[in-house]
Amino acid sequence: MENINIVKGDITFPPRKVWFKTFGCQMNYHDTERMLALLTGLNFTKTELREEADLVLFNTCAIRGLANEKFYSQLGEIKHLKAKNPALAVGAAGCVSQIEGNELLKKYKHLDFAFGTDVIDQISEIVYRFYAGESKFFINAWDKSSNYSIETKITHNDPRAFVNIIKGCNNFCTYCIVPFTRGREISRKIKEIVEDVKKLVNEQGIREITLLGQNVNSFGKENDESIAQLIHQLDKIDELKLIRYTSSHPYNVSDELIKTHGSSKKLALHLHLPVQSGSDSVLTRMKRRHTRQHYLDILKKLREANPEIVLSSDIIVGFPNETEEEYQDTLRLLDEAKFDFIYAYKYSSRPGTKAADIEDSLPEEVKKKRLVDLQKYQLDVQTVIRQGLIGKIVSGLVEEARTKDGVKKWVVRTSCFRIVHFEPENPEVDYKFHWVDLELLSATQLSFQGKMVKDHGKW
Ligand code: SF4
Repeated sequence: MENINIVKGDITFPPRKVWFKTFGCQMNYHDTERMLALLTGLNFTKTELREEADLVLFNTCAIRGLANEKFYSQLGEIKHLKAKNPALAVGAAGCVSQIEGNELLKKYKHLDFAFGTDVIDQISEIVYRFYAGESKFFINAWDKSSNYSIETKITHNDPRAFVNIIKGCNNFCTYCIVPFTRGREISRKIKEIVEDVKKLVNEQGIREITLLGQNVNSFGKENDESIAQLIHQLDKIDELKLIRYTSSHPYNVSDELIKTHGSSKKLALHLHLPVQSGSDSVLTRMKRRHTRQHYLDILKKLREANPEIVLSSDIIVGFPNETEEEYQDTLRLLDEAKFDFIYAYKYSSRPGTKAADIEDSLPEEVKKKRLVDLQKYQLDVQTVIRQGLIGKIVSGLVEEARTKDGVKKWVVRTSCFRIVHFEPENPEVDYKFHWVDLELLSATQLSFQGKMVKDHGKW
């Protein structure tokens, strides 16, 4: 690295290193990348070594208690680093900061600043303030503008990028802290997003995008636009090959969007659609605004629109006072829905949410057992699905090579979001980021072994 200083205002910024620790969802990882890109303007580059950092930044997650605990513990560990190196800057961003920033600053004397989710783009000003001599400050202002307007920033050399299209959530599911940590929904305009994606494709070689938001299905309401319209516009960008979107709420899945899964040439053959429970009474207590039948009808329509589509979901087990019958309803849903995979969680009470006030008589041991049993149940369901796919040809992007017991295999992420490993005929060929067709030879519960039948070259 060249040793060139950057002068901003009254301050000279020599080359410095930032170490990030990110907890939680894709949105947080994307925010971290955005902060890193913005911090290059103040001469920061990323380090993987906490010990050599000049700036330590935590990007926090408030969704589950476990992520919170890990953050508190890692923040505590930094105290020793700061004692050795008093010039070290320590900051906390993200969802926990948004709601607890002041308490964090009081409790952790070595924490210099905290800031919330809606001021991520002010990271350079925030770090500047620290180097200008300010300390122990907290910002958690909400963006009050009627439109959300940004330009995507990336620092990696992967042909895939996340593109924020909406922020916030208006749904207030009773177990979820997100509306309190991310605020109300605001969408970007289609025109801006299309220009942004064109730039990513033409100037940075991006070939796959994931449209990102807490609830992307309600994108554009305030502007009389929709995610289906956005996808139709993005379909027209020649060099863009694949479009994904996440997170989805079933309540906002429109017929227009379902049809787009059949008509779009670029929409991935996969949709992750969180259902959370197969019991109508639990869904009501969760305030999910969809029923079990409504959800199953969406899956049916999606499969009619595109028979190749692969579906996955999120499940919460052990919601307060979940009865055995309600739990069994969720198991039965797994049989009917035939998900390719699920992410299952044990309910975690989040202070400040409605569900946290429910007096819960369901023992922790029962919750834990239900989670383990449900995961096993789903693995049996998906094993049958996966065994039925042997011999099929699938397409995907080669992500990386892994060598185990002296055998080199390439790992491919398919359009339908499955993982396939293949052994190259010639171990010398570099397939990284090639688009390939594979024949599925065998399946485990979580991945496939395949044989490459066509190499379409680098994406
Ligand atoms: S839709 Fe529900 S679960 Fe998803 S972010 Fe909004 S409140 Fe949370």
